[in-house]
Amino acid sequence: MSSSEDQRGPSTRAVHAGVHRPERHHGVPTPIVETATFTFSSSAEVAAHMTGEHADPHREEYGRYGNPTTRALEERLAALEDPRGESECVAFASGMAALTTAMLALLKQGAHVILFRDGYRRTRQFVSKTLAAYGVEHTVVEPGDLDAVRAAITPKTRLIVGESPTNPYLHCTDLRALARLAKEHRVKTLVDTTFATPLNLRPIELGIDLVVHSATKYLAGHHDVLAGAIIGNRALAGLVRELRGVLGGVLDPHAAFLVARGLKTLALRVERANATALAVARQLVGHPRVSHVYYPGLQSHPTHGVAVEQMRGFGGVVSFRVRSDGDALATASRVVDAFRMARIAPSLGGVDTLVEQPAIMSYYEMTTEERRAAGIEDDLIRLAVGVEDEADVLTDVLTALEAP
Ligand code: PLP
Repeated sequence: MSSSEDQRGPSTRAVHAGVHRPERHHGVPTPIVETATFTFSSSAEVAAHMTGEHADPHREEYGRYGNPTTRALEERLAALEDPRGESECVAFASGMAALTTAMLALLKQGAHVILFRDGYRRTRQFVSKTLAAYGVEHTVVEPGDLDAVRAAITPKTRLIVGESPTNPYLHCTDLRALARLAKEHRVKTLVDTTFATPLNLRPIELGIDLVVHSATKYLAGHHDVLAGAIIGNRALAGLVRELRGVLGGVLDPHAAFLVARGLKTLALRVERANATALAVARQLVGHPRVSHVYYPGLQSHPTHGVAVEQMRGFGGVVSFRVRSDGDALATASRVVDAFRMARIAPSLGGVDTLVEQPAIMSYYEMTTEERRAAGIEDDLIRLAVGVEDEADVLTDVLTALEAP
């Protein structure tokens, strides 16, 4: 146990971690330090900063390398993911900036990556198209299939990229077993737990090396800002931070302020979303218009056992498929259009309930056959519950299912 372990609960850490008292100007929130660069009083101070000797640990040099508002957010996110105080967070302008910078920091030409078939599409695209163009090889395995991971490991394998729960089928990977397997082969693990948040799942406690979040979702929580974060041990986070300084995908201080503000209510929002989504999922099971329900809190979900073992709640996203006699795509679109309260939009994890049909949103340019090969059915609907009253969300879902 490290001496800096933060023994306060996660809801408290979401409010207070990273706040240095008294705050400058004695306000409650960490102020927005809206500056691109930072001044030095003398050349001696410049030299002390550059060499790291007698340097003020809280001073910054240039906005691409750090900013006090962003740094405070990073401290809070690190404390949320790792109460032992042994991890660092690096914040980014979006979840994709975080993912791509971390992968570029860990990989080089000739390396091999393993990733799972279900997961955020752009992550797979970055590995299978962008990294492939730079000579990084990859193998795609079925979600959570650790025997397939073991079989795919080669002497060149450097990284396993996971997501838990996955987007959109909510598959959960046994992260403790994944971490153990990866360590046996000296392979690093990077897991996207955007759908879980550190309130529901903390991969670092299970041995995962790096955690990534699209902070655009639950962490910020209000559908008003794009942000991303990587959390891991100091050595790995240091590599990512260094490359962020080169690639430049930094989080703007105003955006960092919005994420930090959202974090203060994270525990309340996640608790509400967990409860409402579970109620929706239970309501959908057995509904005559619904053929499949995907929610890790349901016993029928293929990875329910893993979810119960490693998660404290199952999150706010429920995916389901609707029955149709004819055109599955059009039928599901009619159901989506019949929601009265939920808004049609990509994204999730905010205070407003959002609904989308992946086939015409993220996978719009594919044919039905191509989508099916990618695992996306035309009649699939993804509902991301917000913080509205549970009864109103349920009414909205049941009303939508009455669509012709
Ligand atoms: N990871 C997951 C699981 C996501 O759902 C998303 C976005 O939808 C991302 C990463 C990318 O995050 P951003 O949109 O903040 O770049």
